[in-house]
Amino acid sequence: MAITNSLKYNWHVKLTGQPFLAWQRRQAERHPKVSSRWRSDILSPPLKIGARTKELISRHYLEGRYASGHRPVAWVTSGGPVEILQALGFYILYPENHGALCGVRGAVVELSGVAESAGYSTDICSYARTDIGSVLSGKTPVGRLPKPDILLACTNICQTVLHWYRVLARHFQVPLILIDTPFVYSKLTEHSLQYVIKQLENSIPVAEQVAGCKLNYNRLKEIIKLSKDATELWQEIINRGRHRPAPISVFDQFIHMAPVVEMRGKKATVDFYAALLKELDENIAKGIGAVRNERKRLLWDNLPIWYRLRYFAEYLGEHGICVVASTYTNAWGELAPMMNVEKPLESIARTYISPILNQGTKYKLDTMQRMVKEFQLDGVILHSDRSCKPYSIGQIDQRNRLIQEFGIPALLLEADHDDPRAYAEEQVASRLASFVEMLDN
Ligand code: SF4
Repeated sequence: MAITNSLKYNWHVKLTGQPFLAWQRRQAERHPKVSSRWRSDILSPPLKIGARTKELISRHYLEGRYASGHRPVAWVTSGGPVEILQALGFYILYPENHGALCGVRGAVVELSGVAESAGYSTDICSYARTDIGSVLSGKTPVGRLPKPDILLACTNICQTVLHWYRVLARHFQVPLILIDTPFVYSKLTEHSLQYVIKQLENSIPVAEQVAGCKLNYNRLKEIIKLSKDATELWQEIINRGRHRPAPISVFDQFIHMAPVVEMRGKKATVDFYAALLKELDENIAKGIGAVRNERKRLLWDNLPIWYRLRYFAEYLGEHGICVVASTYTNAWGELAPMMNVEKPLESIARTYISPILNQGTKYKLDTMQRMVKEFQLDGVILHSDRSCKPYSIGQIDQRNRLIQEFGIPALLLEADHDDPRAYAEEQVASRLASFVEMLDN
């Protein structure tokens, strides 16, 4: 069985799939086509790196399609400490990224509906509903997802994942590694750090047993180094948004952040971000901005609204507004300095305790205030995400503080990152129109 699966994997992935995707990417690079729907009058042409982004993501899901029986498979929460599993050779799937892809491809209502018919409330995060619906129905826009051999959930983003992954563990009858990260109210304590290190240590024999091999610490160090390099490059990319005009908008960042979320610890990801940074620097040198006539610059708080990325980019672009910074994309870069090859487990613990969602609302406000200054912003859009309660809590106070202390307009926009049924088209359009007017006054 294992030999048949390996033959299938090598044929479909290595011998045919990957070369085909590389050929497709080269064609797209040689003869770049801009869709007739692209608003070239207000937005600069799409970044050339887009062809590589598509190739990387397609490769990732292609590998997943044929991974079962060939290599161990882990399903992991987006903020999960993935480096140990990577060093053990697991194929890693991030259901939240798959959920985002379902959002972009318009598959959420159907998949979420399957979960809701099975009794899951619409109050549960739409990523969880989409994933559970996909598991129950076997449907996915990427063809097929590999079944997990192990699950890893880390509570550093929310408590939803704890219950969601318990559902998955029951369904697939596989071990669940749970990493519980104490909330950081003001400062990370030594006790919290040791508590997480201990859990990481305890998780290793479980993962080794499923992988069928021992953890090689030298390999772990290599993976940490690659993770660090990729996240550092990502942070530099985000910081290029400080230039006027900004060479990349957050709507581009939302798309190009996929590799740093789901392919950390890989050389291909480091190369990808080095190439993206190079392209941005070339565009900066030529004075090319993401929005052709950039007049105003904004911050985006919270997750994107996956099914309306184009609408926001175009509507705002039409008014010379570029959203140049986001607390969400920043969250994937700001922890890079904490990774330390010389202290693998300690630095993994330190890094994964510290995401923005595992720190107090003051930390988020401080981050936004810092970004308003550093990116010279004219306003803020706070997406109040019906699904993501931990990200949305405190936003009314944060908006008020931004208005009072910086004298800049801040808009609270209610929606859901993945579920279009929680999106009121006309209400959003009219609130956005008033906000744009305010920015000009
Ligand atoms: S509630 Fe928020 S952090 Fe948790 S899974 Fe959903 S989107 Fe992610």
